[in-house]
This record gives sequence, C-alpha cells and structure tokens, in this order.
Amino acid sequence: MNYADRNQVEDMREQLEAQLRPALTCECPAVADEDVIPMGGNGRDGRFFASVNESTKPAEDLWWLWLGRCQTCRTDWLIAQEERIYDDFFVVRVTPETADAIRNVAHWPQRWLTYEGVLRTWRTLSRPCRFLDYMAPSLLWTVEDIRRGRPDITVAEMADLLGIEESHVKDILKYQCS
Ligand SMILES: [Zn+2]
Repeated sequence: MNYADRNQVEDMREQLEAQLRPALTCECPAVADEDVIPMGGNGRDGRFFASVNESTKPAEDLWWLWLGRCQTCRTDWLIAQEERIYDDFFVVRVTPETADAIRNVAHWPQRWLTYEGVLRTWRTLSRPCRFLDYMAPSLLWTVEDIRRGRPDITVAEMADLLGIEESHVKDILKYQCS
C-alpha cells in the first residue's frame, strides 16, 4: 500500500482492526507500553477497564495514581488519570517485578508523585482542554495543588502546564487570594 495516502492507511487500519479485534479477549494487546487513553470519546477506556481493575493505590492522598491488573491476561498497568485539564488516562505496562515492588513495599515511580509531575507527562503527550469558564473549578484546584507541591513555581511554568495564558494564571492567583 501507499503509506503517503492517508485514505489507504485509514482503510488498512480498519481492515486490520476488523480482522484482529474479534480475537481479543482484553484490550491489552492493542495498548502500547506507554499509552494515552482518552476518557469517554471513542470508547477505548471502556474496553480497557472492562478487564483492568484496581490492584493497589498509594497510601498518601495521590488520587490520580493507581496500579491496575488485567483480570484476563494478568498484565500489570500503572495508571495515572487526569480529569481536570487533559481528560485522559495515561497507562504504562509494568513488569511483574515493578508491580510487586509497588504492592509490597509501596515503591511508586517518582515521576508521578506530585500533580505537577503528572501534568508534565501530559504536556508532552496530550492536549489540554479549552475551558469555557474562565475560573473553572478544575483550573482553580489544579493551581492550588501544583503550588502546594512547589510553592515557588513560576507563573510561566504554571501557564505551560495548564495550557493557558500567563495573564490567565495571574487572574486565577488574584482570585484565589481575594
Ligand atoms: Zn489484558
């Protein structure tokens, strides 16, 4: 096939999916080692979480992070969910050794232990939502969380993580102080 032709590529993708999907007993084989699964939308999250259940959560209040296990193929997945700015699940296939270290001695990967770390990962992989509400609670909570994690974070860094203008961040900070 001609890979430069988008229609041919899309057509081939559909043909392959029609051939391969009925054989899948879980979604895992169709998920990359590091993958972004949007919440809602195309239904990929529903298929993935039909067999992947929570296996353990961090003891601290890290509500965005958990370890899941597929009940069908026993694959362990590290899962971060971001439902304020990006509306995605970010999933990473982990080895049984890594999953055991998380379950037995709470050895969670460093990169997602702060909310800022989660947003930093997303910034490189996904696109932020556009907010219709200028002072959307999701934005206010997130600014609060990332400042709690690092009080000296700059306005420019926050604007980049949230995908909004610096002036918008300043207005949020002013609003929160008033
Ligand atoms: Zn599976």
